[in-house]
Amino acid sequence: MLKIGCHLSSAKGFLHMGQEALSIGANTFQFFTRNPRGSKAKELDLQDVEAYRALAREKGIRTIVAHAPYTLNACSADEHVREFARQTLRDDLQRLEYLPEALYNFHPGSHVGQGTERGIELIAEQLNQILTPTLHTTVLLETMAGKGSEVGGCFEELAAIIERVELKEKLGVCLDTCHVYDAGYDIVNHLDDVLAEFDCTIGLERLRAVHVNDSKNPFGSHKDRHEKIGKGFLGLEALRRVVHHPLLSELPFCLETPNELPGYAEEIALLREESAIGQAGSL
Ligand code: FE
Ligand code: FE
Ligand code: ZN
Repeated sequence: MLKIGCHLSSAKGFLHMGQEALSIGANTFQFFTRNPRGSKAKELDLQDVEAYRALAREKGIRTIVAHAPYTLNACSADEHVREFARQTLRDDLQRLEYLPEALYNFHPGSHVGQGTERGIELIAEQLNQILTPTLHTTVLLETMAGKGSEVGGCFEELAAIIERVELKEKLGVCLDTCHVYDAGYDIVNHLDDVLAEFDCTIGLERLRAVHVNDSKNPFGSHKDRHEKIGKGFLGLEALRRVVHHPLLSELPFCLETPNELPGYAEEIALLREESAIGQAGSL
């Protein structure tokens, strides 16, 4: 069964997120591990986590996605900024040990003028400092739009980071449809080619989650502005092809579109349907 859901607010805890997900027809979801701007995390409420896990088992929610604050910069030129990223990632990973079904996604970072090579080195160094052999969580590098000095705007850069990490088995990639289209991967007209390219540079076995977003900007614009499904430059049919692609069938798909719950419910229902043509054919 297709695993699809959306980004939810974690303010009211895990059980609440599980219930919200189910109420909108989702069977996975994503949440920020703390305020996205990166402040201190709330104490983890273990009773809430246990109540959530019982619900998840009963209702068939399996893999979910934890998202690190997007303001972290693991490859900043400033050692204090890097240290803050290190502390936060480490602390999040410790907390996620109570939620072994969660993947942990983060934005690789921005090299801020130091150059991509240096950025890649710093990110890998940071991962080597925080990953340990006993961790249960898989850490995902998100594919980025290549805005500003972002590292991870092409598959080669993500591959280069993974290449330098010792505990590679703890690493995966999360593909964001808006970001890759912005970055210049034409998943609208050449999805199979893009997946083939992903497979030869990174390896499809590393692909562990997908962010499903339309884009407010045209192909290759490097802007990173998410749009509602079907309202942007990717369009509903292209995003349906992603969600129903046979090579991606096991992955969790999370929407990060500008929506409240009712809008998410609609998008989840729209994406669950195969294309109009596919439907007519199956009647
Ligand atoms: Fe993200
Ligand atoms: Fe994303
Ligand atoms: Zn984005």
